[in-house]
Amino acid sequence: MGVTSYEKRGRVAVITMQSPPVNGLGSALRAALLKALDKALYSPGIKAIVLTGSGSGFSAGADIREFNTPKMQAPPNLHTLITAWESSAKPVIAAIHGTCMGGGLELALGCHYRVARPDAQIALPEVKLGLIPGAGGTQRLPRALGLEAALNMIVSGNPVPAEKLAGTPLFDELVPGDLVEGAVAFAERVIREKLPPKRVRDRAVVHPNAAGFLMFARTTVDAVAGPYPAPRKCVEAVKAAVEQPFDEGIATERRLFLDLMTTPESKALRHVFFGERAAARIPDVPDTTPTRPIKSAAVIGAGTMGGGITMNFINAGIPVTLLEMKQEALDRGLEAIRRNYGGAVKKGRMTEADVAARIALVTPVLDYAAIAQADIVVEAVFEDMAVKQSVFEKLDAVMKPGAILATNTSTLDVNRIAAFTKRPGDVVGTHFFSPANVMRLLEVVRGAQTTPDVLATVMKLGKTMKKIAVVSGVCDGFIGNRMLEQMGRQTLFLLEEGALPKQVDAAMEKFGFAMGPFRVGDLAGNDIGWAIRKRRYVEKPMVTYSRIADRLCEQGRFGQKTNGGWYDYAPGDRTARPSAAVEQMIVEYSKEIGVKRRVVSDEEIVDRVVYALVNEGAKILEEGIALRASDIDMVYLNGYGFPAHRGGPMLYADTVGLDVVVRRMKQFARNRHGDPTAWQPARLLARLAAASKTFN
Ligand code: NAD
Repeated sequence: MGVTSYEKRGRVAVITMQSPPVNGLGSALRAALLKALDKALYSPGIKAIVLTGSGSGFSAGADIREFNTPKMQAPPNLHTLITAWESSAKPVIAAIHGTCMGGGLELALGCHYRVARPDAQIALPEVKLGLIPGAGGTQRLPRALGLEAALNMIVSGNPVPAEKLAGTPLFDELVPGDLVEGAVAFAERVIREKLPPKRVRDRAVVHPNAAGFLMFARTTVDAVAGPYPAPRKCVEAVKAAVEQPFDEGIATERRLFLDLMTTPESKALRHVFFGERAAARIPDVPDTTPTRPIKSAAVIGAGTMGGGITMNFINAGIPVTLLEMKQEALDRGLEAIRRNYGGAVKKGRMTEADVAARIALVTPVLDYAAIAQADIVVEAVFEDMAVKQSVFEKLDAVMKPGAILATNTSTLDVNRIAAFTKRPGDVVGTHFFSPANVMRLLEVVRGAQTTPDVLATVMKLGKTMKKIAVVSGVCDGFIGNRMLEQMGRQTLFLLEEGALPKQVDAAMEKFGFAMGPFRVGDLAGNDIGWAIRKRRYVEKPMVTYSRIADRLCEQGRFGQKTNGGWYDYAPGDRTARPSAAVEQMIVEYSKEIGVKRRVVSDEEIVDRVVYALVNEGAKILEEGIALRASDIDMVYLNGYGFPAHRGGPMLYADTVGLDVVVRRMKQFARNRHGDPTAWQPARLLARLAAASKTFN
């Protein structure tokens, strides 16, 4: 079967796009649509043409599988196709259901009439990829829908149901029943009444005070666009629809579109779009791998993480048996879950009844026998190998055959944990991030023996929980925390050499992090890092660590929870105030270890922190711990607050140029303070830089 079908219904030709899953306007479909149009035009008996889509909708726009391939530009391009349909001497009617977005909507706007199902979803989402619509959308939508509504849709990129747009020239009729039948009846009327082809391009954008509105829109967009140029360009393009003749407006749109294509911000957003999809693919675990049904779950430990993980399950409608050692701990855990939902109720996002229904899915228990029938159990007990051992031995004894045994450990060896059972193939790491009910990242840790179907099931579960699930191999810290350790070491060396927490934080926040590393430390609790370092000092005596944070912790300054960490805090107030005492401690510490403090530039701070991530990321990639560079970026964007418009540490390094990164690292290696060996470029990084290649 071809990508279109052609059917004669009396005097009306019905051309249907049939390119699953979403009728993406790839090169084959574009060519077929042009051919089908010509067939209808040359058929003497045909007096009008209906264009519609099969399956999930009319068309979701460009075919993302052809992005960055020559097929993207293969003739006919979208602009040519739309112009051909628009120029048709016979009236063309778009019949729209389901998704009608991007290029799909632009094609519909090139038709002479549009009929739609009331629930069809209409959008121009290009701004979400850092672009503007590039096939006439910015010129035709304001003519069809009116200036304000069109600009809102183009700047937000959000879908709007067709029924909300009824009564505008965008839709000639809404058809609640059989769409194609309705469209053919509409076409018959067009023929009968001899209605002429009605082209959107011939309409003017009407508004009582277009100039005033556009000025207001520009100011509003400026205030919210942040680092992204695309929303501003949307306003500029729509302004052209008001002020320029149609063809000039199209040329303006083209120019703005091409300008945006090359911006780092758009590259970053497109990288995220594709990176999120790529993360779901595991080369040796094909899509066809069977998954195990997950209809019930158990969670061990109702602490910080266990509570959040439980919420993820019940939010997805999966009942949870929650196990603790003592009734008090269970009560505390359930209370915390209720409190968390309370926030959603206050904000009006949930009702009390919704909360009650979710909580009803949790069965609190103290006995392992009660969890035996769960399809998956996630362990979130203390981070201690002996405790994990006792839990996994019990799970091995009680869980039904085929149950998935998952651990939420953040640092322990998943292979050792698997070895506590006689079914290591069923064991996997599910590393959630705190707060687990909020954070989008899920690191799925693949043990040496984890079976493909267990992996596929957990990846699918991540999707059900609306997480970005990224596969990590087993190593200390997995992808995210292993890189974080290198970043943390640099931030502390920077303090010893001359920087202060407020300077490091300000530099990183200017780079785009929502919070600098020292403010994050104060929020999370500096005692956590302290405990990890103490273990490292024993396990890795060869690695150089700054002891400056230990000094802080020895003073009991754990952060916000103790009203003081790297900063001072007033009780009940999260505002970080630079602490004279801490700054003095830092200066004295430098003296004590014989370091003459120097002025450290903001540029050095950003480069050292980010390139520390990049170098460790490269090692993680070459060791095969991460499957691809974009997976590392997805981890950093979704779990560690890396600025989205930079696209993650690996894409950022690509953007800077890997040769530039390596050269800078060699400069840092000359600094005898800290750990010069840390700046030895990873083999993969050195190789790619020498070959002028990139990670992505
Ligand atoms: P927590 O101290 O808040 O909670 C642990 C809970 O486990 C406690 O309620 C405790 O009573 C219970 N527990 C301990 N031993 C048990 C046993 N044998 N049987 C049943 N329940 C038992 O700890 P947490 O922060 O929720 O961390 C849990 C796990 O998640 C750890 O492995 C940790 O490394 C990991 N983790 C934590 C974070 C974080 O930010 N807190 C993030 C990712 C992963």
